[in-house]
Amino acid sequence: MLRRLFAPRPVEGIERGIPVSIVSMTDVVKSYPSAQKGGAPVVAIDGVTLEVERGDVYGIIGYSGAGKSTLVRLVNGLEKATSGSIVVNGTEITSLPERSMRAVRGDIGMIFQQFNLFNSKTVARNVAYPLEVAGRSSAEVTARVAEMLAFVGLSDKAKNYPDQLSGGQKQRVGIARALATSPSLLLADEATSALDPETTSEVLSLLARVNRELGVTIILITHEMDVIRSLATKVAVMDGGRIVERGDVFDVFSQPENAASARFVSTVVQGIPSPVEVATLKARHEGRIVTFSFRDGNASQAQVFLDLAAAGIRFELVYGGINDIRGRAFGHLTLALTGDDAAIDSVLARIATHSEVTEVSR
Ligand code: ADP
Repeated sequence: MLRRLFAPRPVEGIERGIPVSIVSMTDVVKSYPSAQKGGAPVVAIDGVTLEVERGDVYGIIGYSGAGKSTLVRLVNGLEKATSGSIVVNGTEITSLPERSMRAVRGDIGMIFQQFNLFNSKTVARNVAYPLEVAGRSSAEVTARVAEMLAFVGLSDKAKNYPDQLSGGQKQRVGIARALATSPSLLLADEATSALDPETTSEVLSLLARVNRELGVTIILITHEMDVIRSLATKVAVMDGGRIVERGDVFDVFSQPENAASARFVSTVVQGIPSPVEVATLKARHEGRIVTFSFRDGNASQAQVFLDLAAAGIRFELVYGGINDIRGRAFGHLTLALTGDDAAIDSVLARIATHSEVTEVSR
């Protein structure tokens, strides 16, 4: 029953392996007038091009003020782009009148950091709300509310009020409400940022089911790298209104190319010593401190040790960690190397031909 009502709509092209975008942004700029008279406008989005394909869980990450929320508000038409093109579900929305925008919005669900539930309505009435606004019959509303509450595991809370629920339960009501009208796209703006770690992982598992079982595409805005690591399939890193890096989550986490992404990644990736830790390592260990990075369990880790031993370099493992992202592993091992400097230089050059080598201190 659940599956039938939720069955993702057939999408032309998918069965032929052609990627189909649900959101397609091209050269989008959004600027706001300056708060000061005559001041320069605030450019919140500065030339963003982004394709989100059906079925993606697309994470948008960036520090506060990077432009993430503005990006989401552009997708659901709460803000109009200053220039550029935004196509949602095949409709160009940049110059769409508000009346037509409502139809586009009907296919987009949204959840928020502060849940945005009606405190004066019961859980069931909160979930019923978008269905009533959409003019569904009361029999249909009743059936759908029951189905949604069962999906999020809150059937027994139907008659409770939001104030009687925990944060995680409130967000589950938020998800039930957002999905009541069977949208194909869910926008999640810092949806787990107000939750403790355990509740966060419950909500993330629910969102993973929303994507996998219901076929809903999710755009996930967060400043929490861990959320991206556990849920997203693709990620875009925003900085100063631009997308500075994007791609497969494993690639961006294991080998960030942009300095801002690297800063984010280093906060959650195991095994990269911070500058303070490097100083401690240097004080504690003799020799040159070198980090070797490995991806996907290739043979190069064993080769590093073989190469060092063959060159007569003594090594000691001083720092390290292995990370798992959706079943793929990468890691960083930091060694203190002692021996002849020229021999170390030459072996590091050799190792650099098959592994990533970063000398962090010498
Ligand atoms: P984030 O969600 O990444 O924290 P925002 O999208 O909220 O970033 O904001 C991006 C930039 O745009 C910030 O500099 C912010 O101050 C500015 N901004 C956002 N909304 C408005 C607005 N309505 N008026 C003026 N400036 C805004």
